[in-house]
Amino acid sequence: MGATVIATSQAGVPNARTVPFRPATCQNCPETRNLALVSIMSSACPAPIEVLPVDISGLRHGNTGIDYVHRFASGRPGPHVVVNALTHGNEFCGVTALLWLLKHAVRPRHGTLTLSFANVAAYERFDRERPLDNRFVDRDFNRVWSQDILAGDDRAEEVRRARELLPVYAAADALLDIHSTTYAVRPMLVYAALDKARRLATDLRTPTTHIVSPGAKHAGGLLIEYGKFGDPDAPNTALVVECGQHFAQRSGEVAIQTTLRFLDRFGMLDPDFAAAWIAPVPDTKPDIYEISEVRICKGPSACFTRHLEGFEEFAAGELIGHDGEDEIRAPYDRCAVIMPKFQLVVGREMVTLARRL
Ligand SMILES: [Zn+2]
Repeated sequence: MGATVIATSQAGVPNARTVPFRPATCQNCPETRNLALVSIMSSACPAPIEVLPVDISGLRHGNTGIDYVHRFASGRPGPHVVVNALTHGNEFCGVTALLWLLKHAVRPRHGTLTLSFANVAAYERFDRERPLDNRFVDRDFNRVWSQDILAGDDRAEEVRRARELLPVYAAADALLDIHSTTYAVRPMLVYAALDKARRLATDLRTPTTHIVSPGAKHAGGLLIEYGKFGDPDAPNTALVVECGQHFAQRSGEVAIQTTLRFLDRFGMLDPDFAAAWIAPVPDTKPDIYEISEVRICKGPSACFTRHLEGFEEFAAGELIGHDGEDEIRAPYDRCAVIMPKFQLVVGREMVTLARRL
């Protein structure tokens, strides 16, 4: 299919529900006063935009009865693998990977392969002048995965879409959920603290940075921890891959390679095809971080003590930031900050703290 850049009129659809930007610095922290200016100057995005959204409207009508979901059944017994793009609307690398699979007519040798573009409504709102604003329309699609929210009366666009996609994810023996990051940090795999997920992540061999979520740390619930994925007694397994910066060309390449490795792990690829396209990687022991806390931003004066992009480590007791009267201090040695937010918004996640194992 032809991939073309969305026309300006389409890409520029304003997101009326966007929360105003506020730099992640404040006057409480003398060290950051100069950074406030830097943050304002670069408020739109901390990285160059190398990749723009492409028009995927031709993929709306798949063969599943659910918009933007395409399924390829081999007719032979085997696992059902789901590869999911666009959990977040401005994370383009998943689209790159799925379009690559479609262009190369990848079909499973056994079992079933399902490709899903999740939050297309948010993707279509991309605005080059505000490239971080279309992560979602109403609420984070990756924080609605709990029975309470899915069965409740929430009318958010993302909850509606989650209900629609629920049978797709529930049918997956294995799910790869493709993401990217605001800052250009190293790619990483994120998974629940379960042996089945750890084994799968290790089998992929790359990325070699692993973030382990010990369950229920993220308010609202992560897709990779939902239902059977979070059940240690069920074989169904889900991983997130964070492929690098949202708008970097390289992130798309990481997404393609991780997807191919994932499919190959389940024996879905023709061996010659796999040998031709999967890049060799050294056998490197993973760096593993376990999440201890996800900080929610409580007040408008929240800030970090210095500019943070991710993986900076703090000594026990060292000051990481402020949130109103609260001091955010490292609770243990070598406390790493994971995905600190570029824009701090009250009521949303501010930073994740993780222990390097
Ligand atoms: Zn994401």
